[in-house]
Amino acid sequence: MRIAALIQPPHDARRHAQLVEATMQLDGSCHCGAVRFSLNSRTPYPYQLCYCSICRKTAGGGGYAINIMGEAATLEVKGRRHLKVYRARLGATGGGRRSLSSARRHFCGHCGSALWVWDPSWPELVHPFASAIDTPLPKAPERVHLMLGSAASWVPIPTGRKETRFEDYPEQSIEDWHKTHELFETEAKTRPNGSGPDARRPSRRSR
Ligand SMILES: [Zn+2]
Repeated sequence: MRIAALIQPPHDARRHAQLVEATMQLDGSCHCGAVRFSLNSRTPYPYQLCYCSICRKTAGGGGYAINIMGEAATLEVKGRRHLKVYRARLGATGGGRRSLSSARRHFCGHCGSALWVWDPSWPELVHPFASAIDTPLPKAPERVHLMLGSAASWVPIPTGRKETRFEDYPEQSIEDWHKTHELFETEAKTRPNGSGPDARRPSRRSR
């Protein structure tokens, strides 16, 4: 995977520092401590608030839950035996039968903390709940509010230039959002040998 490319021997120290910084290690845990986990992420900004009934009931006391995204191959879990998995039953559409969500919502069987979502439809990705992450996450400069068609009536939905709203899911992926906001560091963005006009420009991630 890309991680392998990121840790190849560097051409110089500065470039190496930039590449290492591109991936953030996230440590997370449930509230009682029975489950601890870590993963690598290049998309750690908690910008996406989901107001769907599943997120609201299982993980979002404020009326929404926030998932970020990391690389499933790097997920390490301590206390795996304490994990429970919830697959929601989805409402029937168009007169069809109710179906089981493909998303596996992992939570602690002792304290009930929501930990991460993994879906075999995108096996290389894992979506931890920001609420379970102990590593200080960067603050999102803008936010996306999604699944507002399912929002509870009592939930205040922020408005304004930096609050984008969707009745269901936005087309833009979490990775694309990070790229659009220049918050997704890639090898291509770093300059070999530390040369060029942008060589000393600090990564936005480090501000
Ligand atoms: Zn727990």
